[in-house]
Amino acid sequence: MQEFILISYFNLFKARLCDQFVQEWPASINSMSKLNYYVKYKKTFKFEPYLNIISNYMISNYSTCFRQGSHRLEIELGRMTGIDRESRLCKLCNSNVETEYHVLMCCPKDSNIRSKYLHTAWPSINKFVSFMSSKNVNVLNNLSKFIFELQTVRDLALQLFVLMFIRNFGVRLYCIFVLFVCVFIFIFPQLRFVNLQKK
Ligand SMILES: [Zn+2]
Repeated sequence: MQEFILISYFNLFKARLCDQFVQEWPASINSMSKLNYYVKYKKTFKFEPYLNIISNYMISNYSTCFRQGSHRLEIELGRMTGIDRESRLCKLCNSNVETEYHVLMCCPKDSNIRSKYLHTAWPSINKFVSFMSSKNVNVLNNLSKFIFELQTVRDLALQLFVLMFIRNFGVRLYCIFVLFVCVFIFIFPQLRFVNLQKK
């Protein structure tokens, strides 16, 4: 009997803690500047359908990191290195702050990949929110592939850019070798998978 009371009390306590977390969750994510865009499309505390729809772990993982601000865009890198928000410009087009919205909807350097997956001509915050909060299987599939390809291509472009500044020939050769291995062992098979899925 005493054991039954203890289990009931524990379950009640656990339920109360969960309720309290869910009640405080909107205020806590609204107070985090790194989640500026996340709060625009994540309104309720619930499981996201894209996690069940995207079967490829790497692609799904890229989407999750992108949504939660755990990426290598300048808005996040600049936060870590103490650069002013206005100075965290996109290194590929140098025209605007490199946010999730910029790379997904605006950056001219991503226009080819964008037209392949999103089929949208004019960037707007409403379209951005509608893509990120969509429950449509096709939209979520294309969006995840776009995010994956986008970040992979951007990372490669930036790494090649950095390589030009390495003066030591041996170090440069070593970096090229590591990049070559990464591209052909990890990245290229995934990109090929993404394109095969699209056909
Ligand atoms: Zn850009």
